[in-house]
Amino acid sequence: MNHAPNAVARLRDQREEEGIKPIQARGWRATRCRACRVIESHCLCAWRPQVETRSGVCLIMTGKEVFKPSNTGWLIADVVRDNHAFIWSRTEVDQQLLALLSDPQWQPYLVFPGEYVAPERVTHSVAVDQGRRPLFILLDATWTEARKIFRKSPYFDALPILSLLPEKLSRYQLRRSTRSEHLCTAEVAALCLDLAGDVEAASALDAYFDVFSQHYLDAKRQLEMDVSTPAHTELMAYLQPAVAVTA
Ligand SMILES: [Zn+2]
Repeated sequence: MNHAPNAVARLRDQREEEGIKPIQARGWRATRCRACRVIESHCLCAWRPQVETRSGVCLIMTGKEVFKPSNTGWLIADVVRDNHAFIWSRTEVDQQLLALLSDPQWQPYLVFPGEYVAPERVTHSVAVDQGRRPLFILLDATWTEARKIFRKSPYFDALPILSLLPEKLSRYQLRRSTRSEHLCTAEVAALCLDLAGDVEAASALDAYFDVFSQHYLDAKRQLEMDVSTPAHTELMAYLQPAVAVTA
């Protein structure tokens, strides 16, 4: 299968090789696709968008999150070609993460709510016209875990904090008619990409997230796969031509 390298999938494989197994949720006996994690009858693989992005992403995850079929960091890693993922540990720092943070081609931004941070560190915009490409560091964990990661990772202390403005968030929620009060990691990433001028990737990720949610829920409810939704139509524009014909 030919698709963009996905750092979350690599972390999953690595954990499995180390003998770490996911905790199997009850009622999830159906076989999942290895490549997209959706139940095979509703496989998402034909719907993986192909877009160019100037920005990169770096997901900081908990060990559990890597195995969750509902994790949306995976979708970001499918869409953004320059994707990195690390499992956070309070006691150990991954040297590759430190190398990435100090790589001169990147301008890292830690995405976090500004109200928890000293105001001088907070920015609401992304510098797009400089030599360095934006690298969005996303804490892909529950809110409680994310706060802990934020507090206990001294190597993030020097980074600017990208805080999404409430009006931007609510405008986004209105436009997407998002059901939940809090945005998931993929939705936050789409907003970051949009801020960085990667508008195609932002739209593709939004549509991909909607399509994923629908496949995931339809499979769970044992409904037929429906590929005629507006999100599927929107996503069509970002598929490889050969894939779009067979989809
Ligand atoms: Zn699949």
